Amino acid sequence: MPVPVIGIDLGTTNSVVAVYDGSSFRVIEDPINGKLTPSVVSFHPSSEVLIGKPARERRLIDAANTIFSIKRLIGLPYKSPILRQARQRYPFKLVEGPADSILVRARTRSFTLPEISALVLGRLRKIAENELGETCTDAVVTVPANFNDLQRTATRDAARIAGLNVLRIINEPTAAALAYGYRSDKRERIAVYDLGGGTFDISVLDLAGEVFQVAATAGDPYLGGDDVDNMIAERMGKFFLERFRIDLSVQPDTYERLRVASEWLKCELTEREKALVYADDIARGDRGAPLDLEFELERQELEKMAFPLIGRSFDKCEEAMRIAGMRPAQVQRVILVGGSTRAPQVRKMVAEYFDQEPMTDLDPDLVVAHGAALQGHALVMARTKKRAAKERLAPASVSDAYSTEPLGYEQQPRYRPGDLDWVLTEDAAQEPITKVAARPAGVPTEPVPQPP
Ligand code: ADP
Ligand code: MG
Repeated sequence: MPVPVIGIDLGTTNSVVAVYDGSSFRVIEDPINGKLTPSVVSFHPSSEVLIGKPARERRLIDAANTIFSIKRLIGLPYKSPILRQARQRYPFKLVEGPADSILVRARTRSFTLPEISALVLGRLRKIAENELGETCTDAVVTVPANFNDLQRTATRDAARIAGLNVLRIINEPTAAALAYGYRSDKRERIAVYDLGGGTFDISVLDLAGEVFQVAATAGDPYLGGDDVDNMIAERMGKFFLERFRIDLSVQPDTYERLRVASEWLKCELTEREKALVYADDIARGDRGAPLDLEFELERQELEKMAFPLIGRSFDKCEEAMRIAGMRPAQVQRVILVGGSTRAPQVRKMVAEYFDQEPMTDLDPDLVVAHGAALQGHALVMARTKKRAAKERLAPASVSDAYSTEPLGYEQQPRYRPGDLDWVLTEDAAQEPITKVAARPAGVPTEPVPQPP
């Protein structure tokens, strides 16, 4: 067997590593984190660095040294308005570094953002190596379709720091579409609706054979499941205030506990109509007596609360539809990505908006890693074939044929509407694609800026 190329979905909230061996797709499970590794890093006073769930738990007690949601900021300049917002929202310190860069301060050190992401990537690499029993250096890493050059470069830097060699960066919606196996000769337009923990992205892809073109993207960097959690937490806080006259929101650690309880409650309400959460000793009452919180919520009530929030995602969908020059019902397929799309309310609203049932066969939180792993496998096969062709005879073993030589072409590094998102499949491997995809026939178009 050739050395695998791992596929990595480096998410804002959670990250996933997976491999594809030509017949089956496998998510590598972390013994501590399971399939989803929270993209959280915590610097412990003992100088230990925690990654994933143990780090996320530190948010409760050591928020200043627990770093999360770095993907929102990676590759941005310090002057960026997004950073200004983040400095108000994030409980850890973000400071100015050299050349208008952003640094994170934790304990006594400063870190670049790629250094933080590298800790998560390094963990994924390690669990893959443990599981596969081989050194895994080659990877395909996914990024949002609207990431610019600097954000892509910073992601590559993070991978390099983690000892990974990125063979290709692919767009998350493209990876999701690949996972669904879309590579027909028919031209199709598909929408990828991605609602994660903290961000929302909508992408419209033009699919023709093996070329995926990003026809439009839009999104909101501050819209996701976290907002629903905060809403529930506020509701809980209000309930507690009315009952005990104690404001839980003033204590950051207590508020964190409410947030954790809220997320749990939200996920329960995806499965059932009503759920109850219990948090003991959440505050102290008269003469220090411990007070517990018991809070019940119905799905219907949650949906009422979350409706305007989820509704905001469709304003972004409208924007994407405008850019793509089409109406929602003209999209041929809709793919759901992101843990928050498990919520029945989200599925229902997406179905209504696009006037069709969205695709939900694949796990929405694993589908991007799935596509990245498929792409990784295609690259392994391409290399093997290329080397074999060079030697004009079949290699002695497939792994002999595997080298780190770059492949035929690079994808467009920066997204603009109309850019091509090159996708290499096994069959296309020998012939580097150099043509520019024409606009699909029969799809209503508005003038779309073409790549220079
Ligand atoms: P990201 O792409 O931002 O890393 P994910 O795709 O992993 O994020 O999504 C994480 C979000 O999905 C969190 O807000 C989490 O609460 C939410 N989520 C996960 N499972 C469920 C569920 N069963 N019901 C509702 N929301 C869920
Ligand atoms: Mg994601």
